[in-house]
Amino acid sequence: MKYGLIGEKLGHSFSKDIHSKLCDYEYELCELSCEEFKEFAKSRNFSGINVTIPYKQKIIPFLDEISPEAERIGAVNTVVNKNGRLCGYNTDFYGLCALIQKNDIQLLGKTVAILGTGGTSLTAAAVAQHLGAGRIIKVSRTKAEGVITYDELYGIGDSIDAIINTTPVGMFPNIESCPVEPERFSRLSAVVDVIYNPLRTQLVLRAEKMGIKACGGLYMLVAQAVFAAEYFLGESLDTKIDRVYEELYCSKQNIALIGMPSSGKSTIGKAVAKELGFDFFDSDDEIVKTESRSISEIFSVDGESFFRKLETNAIASLSAKQHAVIATGGGAVLNETNIDNLRKNSVVVFIDRPLEQLISTADRPLSSTKEMLTQRYNERIELYRKYADIVLNVGGDVSENKSRLISAVRKEWEHK
Ligand code: NAP
Repeated sequence: MKYGLIGEKLGHSFSKDIHSKLCDYEYELCELSCEEFKEFAKSRNFSGINVTIPYKQKIIPFLDEISPEAERIGAVNTVVNKNGRLCGYNTDFYGLCALIQKNDIQLLGKTVAILGTGGTSLTAAAVAQHLGAGRIIKVSRTKAEGVITYDELYGIGDSIDAIINTTPVGMFPNIESCPVEPERFSRLSAVVDVIYNPLRTQLVLRAEKMGIKACGGLYMLVAQAVFAAEYFLGESLDTKIDRVYEELYCSKQNIALIGMPSSGKSTIGKAVAKELGFDFFDSDDEIVKTESRSISEIFSVDGESFFRKLETNAIASLSAKQHAVIATGGGAVLNETNIDNLRKNSVVVFIDRPLEQLISTADRPLSSTKEMLTQRYNERIELYRKYADIVLNVGGDVSENKSRLISAVRKEWEHK
């Protein structure tokens, strides 16, 4: 292997994707058992590698040189073979600095709580110190020297200015979990979550709702890869961080469609998915598939509240997808949890068709007559508007609506 990533489990890694956007070298993913890792490190048969769990500390004894930041942190994620000498660096450190600076988060003199005590928590502590934090508090599930527990953290909640999450809580597939309740920190002004899948974790979304600065870890992931590639090639690639981040962000995002029954979510959604090469899902179709019966049957046998639970489960599982167009049922907006879940990986688009163009059909239990349809419209219209990142007034033909939707979404992505 010339360039690549070594680790124990690499199934969900984005690294190959990122490096292929950066340079034209071959970048391989190489899963190694502990024994294989030792043989690999001893062989020195590579030009440059990234190192991930569980080998970031274990690689250190095999190195000839270690950079000051990697030595301070006690972990190495990048190794360059310089004419047979192995030099180790920690580009996660620079990646996290870049993420915090990109989001204009100030840590100078601030009290920073770091959640988790694993490898990345050491990087986060080094970064917080580098950026001038006044006090750094490490938080663990287990009571130990130098750390406090989550209960103790809530006890001093009023003194915390910023939280950096370095636990895997909230990561795919458990995207509904949240490591702390940010609402319990009255002085909180920033949240940094190093998790990048989903793009926005439950913690980030809750912090955003509080009106404070919050960011997920994708930019850090891209930046650390760019800095690693610079070490591999011995040249500056700094300007590529934003471009590669934008490309990657767009390629992972979903487009979620909300709106009334018969507004055209499925028809427009399928056309958009086809044009962009995305997968297409419809939450109602998913329910029908799992239940093996029609929506009307579910409503008539088990009632609306049972259906809404199925809908929430279906939307939670679709929300974990990436690179998909997701059409939701007309009533999905009635439960805010559905919108929160969709937002983790999606831009939310309201397909806004005027009431007079909507059609009532017998197979739609809550809008089977024009009167019922009008009532539903009046109940929901404000919710659709409130939850939408984009409102798409539809009229004209499918092709025109598709093109307008794609250009509106692209504009929205540019601002992320
Ligand atoms: P790690 O060494 O396994 O440490 C994670 C720590 O989180 C553990 O030491 C543990 O601390 C805590 N933790 C684990 N499971 C938990 C649970 N169920 N509930 C609460 N706390 C839990 O992992 P890591 O290498 O530091 O990576 C952590 C996360 O950072 C991963 O999600 C990884 O993908 C992400 N990461 C992102 C980037 C990026 O570029 N964006 C870079 C590196 C890592 P306690 O036992 O003390 O509670």
